[in-house]
Amino acid sequence: MTKSTKSAGKCPQCGKETVQKYRPFCSIRCQQLDLGKWFNESYVIPGEEALSTNDNEDDY
Ligand SMILES: [Zn+2]
Repeated sequence: MTKSTKSAGKCPQCGKETVQKYRPFCSIRCQQLDLGKWFNESYVIPGEEALSTNDNEDDY
């Protein structure tokens, strides 16, 4: 047990070798890409509009 070569793995974005600085990604770009993905996903609002029944309103 002399060699403890911990291969950090591969970038989940592009599959390149992981750079320790940007773990688990290979670069700041991939890191931001992933962050952006999450951000966008949490930003997406399901198109569930409140159904306002507006068809029976003869109450003038
Ligand atoms: Zn990458």
